[in-house]
Amino acid sequence: MNDTQIIEPGATLGMLGGGQLGRMFVDAAHALGYRVHVLSPDPDGPAGQVADEHTAADYGDLVAVERFAASVAAVTYEFENVPAACAAACAAHGPVRPGQQVLAVAQDRVREKTTLRDLGVPVGPFAAVTSLPELEAAVAQLGCPSVLKTAGGGYDGKGQRVLRSAADVTYAWEDLGRVPCILEAFVDFEQEVSVVAARGVDGTTVCYGPIANTHRNHILDVSVVPSGATAEVETQAVAITEKIMDGLDVVGVLCVEFFQIRDGAQKTGEDPARGRMLVNELAPRPHNSGHLTLDAYAVSQFEQQVRTVCGQAPPPAGARGPAAMANLLGDLWPAAEPGEPAWSTLGAHAADTDLRLHLYGKAQARPGRKMGHLTACARTPHEAIRDAVEARARLAPAARVAPD
Ligand code: AMP
Repeated sequence: MNDTQIIEPGATLGMLGGGQLGRMFVDAAHALGYRVHVLSPDPDGPAGQVADEHTAADYGDLVAVERFAASVAAVTYEFENVPAACAAACAAHGPVRPGQQVLAVAQDRVREKTTLRDLGVPVGPFAAVTSLPELEAAVAQLGCPSVLKTAGGGYDGKGQRVLRSAADVTYAWEDLGRVPCILEAFVDFEQEVSVVAARGVDGTTVCYGPIANTHRNHILDVSVVPSGATAEVETQAVAITEKIMDGLDVVGVLCVEFFQIRDGAQKTGEDPARGRMLVNELAPRPHNSGHLTLDAYAVSQFEQQVRTVCGQAPPPAGARGPAAMANLLGDLWPAAEPGEPAWSTLGAHAADTDLRLHLYGKAQARPGRKMGHLTACARTPHEAIRDAVEARARLAPAARVAPD
């Protein structure tokens, strides 16, 4: 199959990864007439439960990966830490979208920041460190506070330490396991935003957002569109995203996470014409912050993933209006199993007609585990946040709500 051939409905698509992002991809693929084969180690994961075929195997089991890849027309994934050998084995059989080069960039924070900087994309000051003396030199150069992150493997704030003074350096280096790291200057941001983008083989790109995101305990808590940033700042974020999509020749869906820095926060010596957006990181897949696209847009991020992986041009997103998403973590579930949040409280309020519940089919609730989400559509972003957050609060009696 050549790279521009369109994969028609009826074909089977391959999904590496068995979580909720994979599950929502399967749902979107089914709606468009495709079958999906999921490969993931978990025999009863959210995506495997709804897939047409599921191979329960490790990503390092190249015999299973080969068999999986031979059974599908194209392969995509729902997490960026797909081992390179697994992606290469899939690529030998057909398209892997987004491609291996994009995966390699997103898997290593040093390569990611270096590639972005080389593309002319604004990123904060950073330095690669592979030893304690290099870290000490980097701290002397970038100052404190700064953030030390492992180059590979981190997510949801794992594998990171904030260095408040030079006294923290040795402990942080040891604590992260003396592995290759990136040191980043601490960014004084006003808010964090993301842009989810879909790009076709023909280069057409469609963007969602910017979406404003707030976190709790390093896990995404609430996302909202519009982001509240000025039109100029929003335009900057979209332009940067398009530059990244073109620069990396992404085919598929990719999320760009940004820091929106404070107005006037530029320090002396920095380019005063510099924009207000710095790229923090890339996720070459649909993103938690894009879940509101399921209800707040005519075409969701998952439908875009299906279409672009199949070689189609992404259709216009079709924004419907302000919306907010609130994650439902396992903390909302009663400690004593079996038990469920108070689902009957949803629908009790007038605003609930514009509220949508999505659950991922995970059998076991654990604190911090993403079990589902709520999306509220409303007249304003503020009302959408209020509706989503209040509905979530009703799901758990006060005693069970995790403290801040
Ligand atoms: P990351 O895994 O890179 O997305 O980082 C997780 C969170 O840590 C981000 O969402 C920010 O809230 C915070 N963070 C990461 N890097 C920086 C930085 N250089 N400056 C300030 N905050 C940061």
